[in-house]
Amino acid sequence: MNKKYSDFFNPEMETMTRPQIEKLQLERLQATVAHCMNSPFYKKRFEDNGISPSDIKTLDDLRKIPFTTKQDLRDTYPFGIASAPLDRCVRLHSSSGTTGNPTVILHTQKDLDEWANAVARCLWMVGCRPGDVFQNTSGYGMFTGGLGFQYGAERVGMLTVPAAAGNTKRQLKFFTDFGTTVVHAIPSYATRMFEVMEEEGIDPRRDTRLKTLVIGAEPHSDEQRRRIEQMLGVKAYNSFGMSEMCGPGVAFECREQNGMHIWEDYYIVEIVDPETLEPVPDGELGELVLTTLDREAMPLLRYRTRDLTRVLPGKCPCGREHKRLDRMQGRSDDMIILKGVNIFPIQIEQVLMKFKELGGNYLITLETLESNDEMTVEVELDQLFTDSFGRLQALEKKIARELHDEILVTPKVRLVPRGTLPVSEGKAVRVKDLRKKF
Ligand code: AMP
Ligand code: ZN
Repeated sequence: MNKKYSDFFNPEMETMTRPQIEKLQLERLQATVAHCMNSPFYKKRFEDNGISPSDIKTLDDLRKIPFTTKQDLRDTYPFGIASAPLDRCVRLHSSSGTTGNPTVILHTQKDLDEWANAVARCLWMVGCRPGDVFQNTSGYGMFTGGLGFQYGAERVGMLTVPAAAGNTKRQLKFFTDFGTTVVHAIPSYATRMFEVMEEEGIDPRRDTRLKTLVIGAEPHSDEQRRRIEQMLGVKAYNSFGMSEMCGPGVAFECREQNGMHIWEDYYIVEIVDPETLEPVPDGELGELVLTTLDREAMPLLRYRTRDLTRVLPGKCPCGREHKRLDRMQGRSDDMIILKGVNIFPIQIEQVLMKFKELGGNYLITLETLESNDEMTVEVELDQLFTDSFGRLQALEKKIARELHDEILVTPKVRLVPRGTLPVSEGKAVRVKDLRKKF
C-alpha cells in the first residue's frame, strides 16, 4: 500500500489484510459472546436455543446465534439486554420509536472512548486534521449525531463548534465568523442552509472556508449529494450510523466516495434476504445485520437493522480492506407498496434531482381517491423560478413520465414555490400515507 502512516487515524486497524481482519473478528466475537452471558436476555436466548459460547469456533458459527431485533430491545426496556452492571455505565442514549417503548442503549466509559475513536477515524479518513474548524448542526441530546460527532471531532484535534440544530442564520454567522471548514448536517438541512445563504447574499465559495461536509442520518441519493456539493462548493461524504451501534462512526465513505467502509474491527457485517433471512452474495441487496465486537455495556448479536443495502464487491483503491456498503436504499419499513408495486422514496428522489428546475425539498403523499390508491409528488421549484403556467404544466408532465419509467406507476406531480413544503428540524419526513386501510 503506497500510503503514508499519517493518512490513517489508526494505521494498525485500517491497514489490516482480510486474513488479519478475520482473525481479529473471531477473537473478538468469542470474547463478545462469552461476555453476553452476563446479559439476562442473551443467557436465556442461548439456553432456549440449546447453544453455548463454546459452540462459536469459526466466524461461520455466528449463524448458529438467533437474530436480535428492535422488538427485543423494546421488550427488555430499559436495561434488560445490558451485559454490564449499571454502575459501570456512564451514559445512555434512547431513540424514540413511533410506537411502543423507545429503545435504550447503554455505554461504559470504554464504549464512549471507542466510539470517539471510530468517529475520529472516519473524519480523519476524509482529510479532517487539527487546524480544521468543525461545526455540528445535529441536535445534542438523545440523538447520537450530536455528542457522537462532538467527541470524535475533538479526538481528531479540530476546533469544534457545537452549534446544534436549527437557527440557520446563526449557523451561517458561525461559518463566517469562526472560519468553519467542516460541517456535519443531515442532507435536507444542508440544502436548507444553502437556501438561506442565497437569501442572505452569502456565497459559500467566496464568503466561507467550507471544504468538507459530512452528511448522513437519512437516506439520500447520489444525485442529491452531487447537488449539495455543487451548491456549497464542498466535498460531501456519506456517513452511516445508528443508535443501537453507538451512533455515527459505523460506516463512512473514504475519499473515493464509492461506498462506505464499515469498520470490521468493531462490527461483523451480514446481508440477508429479509424474507428468508438467508445470506445473500456480495453485490446483492438485502437487510444489513450487524454484530458488535467491542462493546462492554450492551453488545448486540446479529442485530437486524432493517436497513437495505449491499456489500460492494472488489477492493477500494484507498487500500482499506474493510468492506464497503452501498448507499442505503432505505429501511424495509419505508418501502411503499402502491398498486402492488414496491417503491422506495429514494427512487423518486433520484429522478427529481436530475431536473435542474427543481429544488431539494419534496413530499410524497399517498391517499385513497374513489377507492383507488394514488400518489402525489409535490416538489419545490429551484430559486424563485418564474415561468409561464404552460411551461410548468409541461414540466410536471415530463417529471411524471420519468417517474413512471422508474417506479412503474404514474404519480400526480405538483410543482410548488420554494419554501412551501414543511422542513423538519430532525430527519426529513418524505412520505405522508393517508390511505384508507380496508
Ligand atoms: P438513529 O438510531 O436515530 O440514529 O437512526 C438510525 C437510522 O438512520 C439507520 O438505521 C438508518 O435507517 C438511518 N441512517 C443513518 N445514516 C444513514 C445514511 N447515511 N443513509 C441512509 N440512512 C441512514
Ligand atoms: Zn476506500
